[in-house]
Amino acid sequence: MPENIREQIAILVELQKIDMECNRLKARLREVPAQISELQRGAEEYTGLIEDKKNTIDELKKQYRSCESEVQGNLGMIAKSQEKLRAVKTNKEYQSSLKEIDDLKLKNAAIEDKMLEFLEQIEAVEKQLEETGQQHAELADEARQQKKQIEQEAEKIRATLLRLEAERETICSGLDPSLLETFNRVQAAHSDWVAVVEVRNSVCQGCHLNIPPQLYNELHRCDSLKYCPNCERIIYWQEQEERSE
Ligand SMILES: [Zn+2]
Repeated sequence: MPENIREQIAILVELQKIDMECNRLKARLREVPAQISELQRGAEEYTGLIEDKKNTIDELKKQYRSCESEVQGNLGMIAKSQEKLRAVKTNKEYQSSLKEIDDLKLKNAAIEDKMLEFLEQIEAVEKQLEETGQQHAELADEARQQKKQIEQEAEKIRATLLRLEAERETICSGLDPSLLETFNRVQAAHSDWVAVVEVRNSVCQGCHLNIPPQLYNELHRCDSLKYCPNCERIIYWQEQEERSE
């Protein structure tokens, strides 16, 4: 177990680095379910659109069929009127039957125009349906690939976390338990999870305030654990050339 404060601080800094990395990775993992459901929601929107278009086509076909049977009904009536025409006795009856037939033929012509419009509409919606179907297939394919990538990334993160946690345990087992307890306590008191900070030119890098000159001098001696009087983090000082960044 390192007696030297400088060595202990170095270990705590290492421990803190691992904790920060673990926190970052865990935060990333927490985003994964929302990301995946977002991908699925995109695909589901298309499923709804496709369903709508299919319903529209069904409705148009129904209207087309009802026109069709109306035309058939009118044709039946025309046949009956023509039958009647052969049996009429007076000119008046003859004229009236002819008018009936003409009216029915006109009606059918109008219905047939409407049917043509329905056919055009059906064709247009079928084309839209095909396009939407294609877009949906592309999107679903893309979503599947993205989901796979996200899951692979998550798998890697979980493996890294396991490795870091093992590393952390090894480091902790080599630390003085009371020092570890202090570290955990200070860490828990700060939302950014930073417990150990350097002091540069008398400025605490945790809270960015000056520490008193007396404390700054003591810090240089490295003979005991020191705390920032403002943010209460564990503070240390190191030579400029020792900094790793
Ligand atoms: Zn501070």
